[in-house]
Amino acid sequence: MSIVVQKYGGSSVADVTRLKKVADRVMRTRREGHDVVVVVSAMGDTTDDLLKIAKDVSPNPDRRELDMLLTAGERISMALLSIAIRELGGDAISFTGSQSGIITNDRHVDARIIEVRPHRVEDELARGRIVVIAGYQGVSYRKEITTLGRGGSDTTAVAMAAALGAEYCEICSDVDGVYTADPRVVPDARRIGALSYEETQELAESGAKVLNAQAVEFAKDRGIAIYARATASPLPGADPSADGTVVRKFAGRAPGSVVGVASERDVLVFDVTGATPGPADATRILPVLDEFHVAGKQLHVRGDRLTLVVSRENFHDEARVREAIRRRLGGSVQIVESLGAVSVVGAGINASFANVRRGSDALGSAGMTPQGVATSSFRITWMIDRARLDDAVRLLHRTFIDPSAISH
Ligand code: ADP
Ligand code: ASP
Ligand code: MG
Repeated sequence: MSIVVQKYGGSSVADVTRLKKVADRVMRTRREGHDVVVVVSAMGDTTDDLLKIAKDVSPNPDRRELDMLLTAGERISMALLSIAIRELGGDAISFTGSQSGIITNDRHVDARIIEVRPHRVEDELARGRIVVIAGYQGVSYRKEITTLGRGGSDTTAVAMAAALGAEYCEICSDVDGVYTADPRVVPDARRIGALSYEETQELAESGAKVLNAQAVEFAKDRGIAIYARATASPLPGADPSADGTVVRKFAGRAPGSVVGVASERDVLVFDVTGATPGPADATRILPVLDEFHVAGKQLHVRGDRLTLVVSRENFHDEARVREAIRRRLGGSVQIVESLGAVSVVGAGINASFANVRRGSDALGSAGMTPQGVATSSFRITWMIDRARLDDAVRLLHRTFIDPSAISH
């Protein structure tokens, strides 16, 4: 029997009615003759709510204790979904990340999976059971409970699919696939039928929440096909790209065209000026950030100046880090909070400077003068006033997306 891994996001299990619908979808998959492993996120906004309580208790909550707290969210949904499946006559058993054999490094709050030992999951599948796994969590070699960073249930699902040799990994959400931009921001964004791993990874890293970047990286390494679909959609048919997005090895698109626009609002920009000529002094900020496990996104060093963009997504002890930077580097560091990042993504889009010029001109003409621009072979990112970020996404979508090039 082929194994199918399905992941249901927080909005899909937000209340009892939705949880029962998920249980029904799982049972339908089972009746199609698959072995089914289900990965669940915490219900609705549970993770945000737990984080808020922790922040109310302390502005710098300890990372280990945060992991103990946040993993509770997924534990609630795994048990409730298992109960719901049993109510429908299915034979389900729930496991935490640790019980399912998700082994991570010991970097609390944004740990990385280093190994999956799915023996208990395999044993239960062999007994004919449906296995429900708490997403977003694992255990380190030192037996510490860890979480995989925000959106990490996707990573659990893909890693489990790889370890079990699953046929595919379905990521089920409130949106029926990956769009050319967040459909909540750009109403005429279009669903993309098929995406390459690289395109998807760049979109995710640029802030498109629908798939987690680490999950896509895992899928790429192991060659797992991801089906991004709506929980309300039918089960995947002969052509899953017809009513969802398929992410797989794919070389179909003409190089140079933009496939999507994404943005990230909650970023900090660190501007460091060294006290001495050359980069050595400015780079003194890097060991401080490493000490506090702060992951940087873009780094640019030239002469005595360093600019660094940091995502706030998994950055929960900011007050402590700011204090350490102030103490050790003094007034040479300026932290800018007013900017956001908007990116366009596509293979080979920087073969010439045409796309950079086109985007910068469009933004400038609309009064959103970029405060910075960075490129890679797959991406152009502009830093602009955070208050105009959604306008910028709509503008760049109008400027770059050629609907006829998208379908699949
Ligand atoms: P889940 O809780 O199911 O993991 P998320 O909230 O993490 O769901 O991701 C789904 C959301 O991602 C959608 O509701 C949508 O607003 C947002 N989103 C952002 N960018 C995109 C995109 N390019 N395509 C589709 N959805 C996107
Ligand atoms: N519950 C976690 C979060 O909100 C993980 C996930 O949903 O994927 O980030
Ligand atoms: Mg998500």
